[in-house]
Formats: sequence, C-alpha cells, structure tokens
Amino acid sequence: MATKFAKELIASPGKKIRLDKWDPVDTLGWEKNHKMKASLAQTIEKLDNLQYLLYAEHSRALLIVLQGLDAAGKDGTIRHVMSGVNPRGCRVSSFKKPTSEELAHDFLWRVHPHAPGKGTIAIFNRSHYEDVLVVRVHKLAPKEVWSARYQFINDFEKLLRRGNNTRILKFFLHISREEQLERFKQRLDDPARNWKISRSDYQEREYWDAYTEAYEEVFARTSKQHAPWYVIPSNHKWFRNLAVSQIVAATMEDLGMHMPGPQVDLNEIRKEYHEAADQERRHQSKTKA
Ligand code: AMP
Ligand code: MG
Repeated sequence: MATKFAKELIASPGKKIRLDKWDPVDTLGWEKNHKMKASLAQTIEKLDNLQYLLYAEHSRALLIVLQGLDAAGKDGTIRHVMSGVNPRGCRVSSFKKPTSEELAHDFLWRVHPHAPGKGTIAIFNRSHYEDVLVVRVHKLAPKEVWSARYQFINDFEKLLRRGNNTRILKFFLHISREEQLERFKQRLDDPARNWKISRSDYQEREYWDAYTEAYEEVFARTSKQHAPWYVIPSNHKWFRNLAVSQIVAATMEDLGMHMPGPQVDLNEIRKEYHEAADQERRHQSKTKA
C-alpha cells in the first residue's frame, strides 16, 4: 500500500505537471475511518523504529523538505508525522525572510548548516526553494539571478546525496483556495490559532496563480529520481498525514538499513558483567550482615 502513495503522488522527474490537474481533496480511495486511523498509527510507530535504526547505523541521513502556501499545514504535518520520533535524531529548521547577513551571502549559505548529519533526520519548514518561489513571485531578485538557482539547487542536493549519503524527500502540501480561506477563518475564530495570523497571508493569496506557476517550474526542474517532489492533496489533514508518513516510511524501508553489530567483544563484556554482579552480591550480603 505504501508504494502506492509514492507512485500516485510523485511529480515525475522531467515531466511538466499542471497543478490544477491535482485535486487537493483527493484521498486515493481512503476514508476517514478505523482502518485509516489504524494504518496511520502503525506507520507512525514504524517511523519510530526506522529512525532508531537510522540513528544506530549512523551511515546515512534523511532530509525532508516541506513547502506549501500559507495554511497548507506544514507545521501540522511535522507535529503529526513526527510525533513518534525521538527528538534526539531529528531536527526541524524553519526558513523565514532572510536577515541582512544572510542576504549578503549566496542563497544556500544559510541552508547548508541545517543539512542532516549521518544518522539523523532534518526537516525543512520552507527551504532553499523559497529562493525560486517568493523571490520569483515578488521579484526580489532579477530573473537571471533566480533562474540560475535551479541548477545550483540540483547540484546542492546532489552534493548532499553523494557527499553525505543523504536521501531527500520533498513534499508540496496542495490545498485549494477555498480551503485556505476556511483555515484563515478558523485562525480568526479560534483564540488558540490567533497567533498564526499574519497580514501577509492575505497579500500572498493575491499571488496564487504566480505561485502555482513558480511551483510547477520547481517540480519540472528539480524533481529527481533521488530527490523527488511529491504533491500531497492536503485539504484533508488526515490524508496529508497518512500520505506523508507512508512515503517517508516506505523510503526509509527501501534504504536497506541494518542494525550494526556490537563495537566491543561481547564475551569480554559478559565476563566483566559477571564480575561486577559477583562483587555486587558480596557487597549486598556484607551490608545486610
Ligand atoms: P511563515 O512560514 O508563515 O513563518 O513565513 C515565513 C515567511 O518568510 C514567508 O512569507 C516566506 O515566503 C518568507 N521567506 C522564506 N524564505 C525566504 C526567502 N529566501 N526570501 C524571501 N522571503 C522568504
Ligand atoms: Mg505564514
């Protein structure tokens, strides 16, 4: 079942995709029921075990990139999908408007230090892709600057892969305009969500079509066999969580990880254990006497 998610939702490398052909309410036939909830719970438990193995093996890394328009659910995805994962081996980095120091460097300068080390998972909440999305849409840099970045991005991701054995998964959380407006309304109505409101949300909404075009070019130019983009129908939060967790778990299963053997001579250590246990017994009987 898991491979079905990846197969159905991948933005095929080299192919131009039309986002309006991807239905944000699609659920690939799944319904919100017991079966779905059981499958999600099972996958999240599986992710915990797979991350344990990744950490123990310490030979490869995983980078998960999350992109989407405002209110697409990037934070919610991280909270749900990674709920079972040990924070020791997983780090989330959010990329906001660059500082003046960051702007004084090349666009990847601020990103590279957040790439995952061996044995760990890094999750990017927004990413280096903003430099060909918001920058393009708002003309924050001239076209010749941002259009050269696709190649730099592909080279950067190749470096992470070949230079540090990093598997890369990129998710676009796809919501409809109506769903976005509904979520903005919830943010207004629910005091627990008021903090998420930003004036720019409404301004950005006006650029919906320009973002769509920018994303379509991102998929066409940077979805690669070893660093694929997945377009996740995200109007239904439960489906989004199910799809992302299934694809992450299936990818990690495919890595062919192995639990490493001991780094010490177990027979020697066992001897030491028995000596310590004998000593402890003698100590106990002395204190009782
Ligand atoms: P949020 O994710 O809602 O906290 O908002 C972060 C904001 O930072 C978004 O409006 C992004 O478009 C913006 N942002 C992130 N990266 C860049 C970038 N490289 N250049 C300009 N704006 C950016
Ligand atoms: Mg926002």
